[in-house]
Amino acid sequence: MTELCVFEGDGVGHEVIPAALQVLRHVAPDIRIRPAAGGWSCFREQGTPLPEESLALARRCRAVLFGAVNSPSWPVENYFSPVVRLRRELQAFANLRPTRYLPVPTARAGVDLVIVRENTEDLYVGNETTKDGGQTGVAQKVITRGASERVARLAFELASRTGRKKVTIVHKSNVLPRSDGLFRQAALEISEYFTSIETDELLVDTAAYWMVKEPMRFDVVLTPNLYGDILSDMAAAWGGGLGMAPSISVGEDVAIAEPVHGTAPDIAGRGIANPTASILSVALLLRHHWQRAEDARRIEQAVHETLRHGEHTGDIHSDNALSTQEFTDQVCAHMD
Ligand code: ATP
Repeated sequence: MTELCVFEGDGVGHEVIPAALQVLRHVAPDIRIRPAAGGWSCFREQGTPLPEESLALARRCRAVLFGAVNSPSWPVENYFSPVVRLRRELQAFANLRPTRYLPVPTARAGVDLVIVRENTEDLYVGNETTKDGGQTGVAQKVITRGASERVARLAFELASRTGRKKVTIVHKSNVLPRSDGLFRQAALEISEYFTSIETDELLVDTAAYWMVKEPMRFDVVLTPNLYGDILSDMAAAWGGGLGMAPSISVGEDVAIAEPVHGTAPDIAGRGIANPTASILSVALLLRHHWQRAEDARRIEQAVHETLRHGEHTGDIHSDNALSTQEFTDQVCAHMD
């Protein structure tokens, strides 16, 4: 039996995740949906943002759909990011964030790239302390050869499997030769096994410049955790905006799909959030985890058709904006 563990999380997660599940049921009614608790509201109710039973369910299902969580920007005792923990617990070691042109006025024609981001280490794991009575903050950046090689192999394999031409390794090894330099070296060594793929490298600041100026020059971008987080939000702007950007974290026989956006507190609860990112995240699960490329293609095609007919939510254009539910119904209608 194929099962999907679902965390709606917080904020617009309660709106966009049910929308994505409506679409999933339409193409794959055989997949059993298993709801799980997690996030900030769960922390306030149960004292933990990721209860043991939720983690156990995720481990059993091997496939997770995660909404968004409302992580506080100040230290809260016993709170941790449930999705960061989940990625680590399930060893979902690579995060894939594709950005492809969609027919909306906010997207950039010709963009078709995927950012492959290392998911288990770097500054992003949040290993922090304070010293001097709180006057000095210290964050530890750890990069290992093993994790770097593992994500690099996945990026090059993805490139060759999907007919892509180039992998750009992004780092800051001129300033951080022992950590980013190790990532770079490991990635370059892996690249030697993939002679049909062009290998390129850029410092992260230069990569940010090109991501804004000429995103068409990127094909696959391979990068450590924190740079990937930042660059993929930049890339998301070219795909039409945060409301359109899907992602999936993958490991050995495990996947966590999630929209790139957060809880969008400014619009949460109003039924107007754009569900496209979550719907396309489900398509990524179908393609990359369940090997159901035809079902994935049906969903992507339906989203494309819906947008091409000028049907969209208010983040794309305020004229004739559809609600989350109306947009989702249109996507389902385009699959019939
Ligand atoms: P968080 O603290 O959870 O990260 P945030 O507001 O800082 O929340 P996002 O949730 O990513 O970050 O939102 C950034 C902006 O993009 C907000 O203006 C939000 O309304 C908008 N946005 C994000 N997701 C969507 C969506 N699905 N549909 C429409 N607008 C969205």
